[in-house]
Amino acid sequence: MTDSPAYPTATSIDDFRRNLARVREHIAAACQRAGRDPAEVRLLPVSKTVDEARIRLAYAAGCRELGENKVQEAHAKWEAMADLPDLRWAVIGHLQTNKAKLVARFASEFQALDSLRVAEALDRRLQAEGRALDVFVQVNTSNEASKFGLPPEQAAAFVRELPAYSSLRVRGLMTLALFSPDPALVRPCFVRLRELRDRLRQEAPAGIAIDELSMGMSGDYALAIEEGATTVRVGQAIFGARALPDSHYWPGLASAGPQS
Ligand SMILES: *Cc1c(COP(=O)(O)O)cnc(C)c1O
Repeated sequence: MTDSPAYPTATSIDDFRRNLARVREHIAAACQRAGRDPAEVRLLPVSKTVDEARIRLAYAAGCRELGENKVQEAHAKWEAMADLPDLRWAVIGHLQTNKAKLVARFASEFQALDSLRVAEALDRRLQAEGRALDVFVQVNTSNEASKFGLPPEQAAAFVRELPAYSSLRVRGLMTLALFSPDPALVRPCFVRLRELRDRLRQEAPAGIAIDELSMGMSGDYALAIEEGATTVRVGQAIFGARALPDSHYWPGLASAGPQS
């Protein structure tokens, strides 16, 4: 997984079946190397920028949950595909408090919690909707100023505040590793998140379970699994290369171009 793979665009149900099978094979191989059970690793397909027609093909190929980076895009897709009630939507990108209302309405999961203001806004909106939301606390493990997420040393104090927000079901931690083809630079980010999870697990207040590790994307999910990932967020290896560069999704990331 160290070289930059080409990701052909999936345009048929068979393409999606094949891509999903290939990713699952790689997940199984990484689990085998790490002595883990593949059933411990959840594959979250990431469908940002993918249009409705192709998402429906992915659904037909078996996808029942999808990750989206931008709230409005996710909400629009949820509305357009309301005829697929067993399709769950995970918002995995940074959230501004003024969009908490949208997330509370439709998302089943939010993976980028990194401020108490957002926690408060989400909780209030969720109470109003009579809904609950699975959340992951995002941690900046790469020490890059451009990345969202809490500095690791602030995570414990943050987690101690979370029992105040009863509609948030805290699942664990999420991170984006350094964008690099060099495993020697990427792996330490995953190790940092796992070690932090192990510490927070001991210290977490009653009712808050810091168990899950959401880490690993198309370019690095095998490494992430070797280091303990319980959710991998994979877009391009399933849907195909995105046309827009990653800097479109992660402001400040000027140097990284499209990966194909
Ligand atoms: C886009 C995205 C992914 C998936 O990246 P791919 O390179 O498409 O696998 C994972 N996590 C987040 C937060 C993303 O925005």
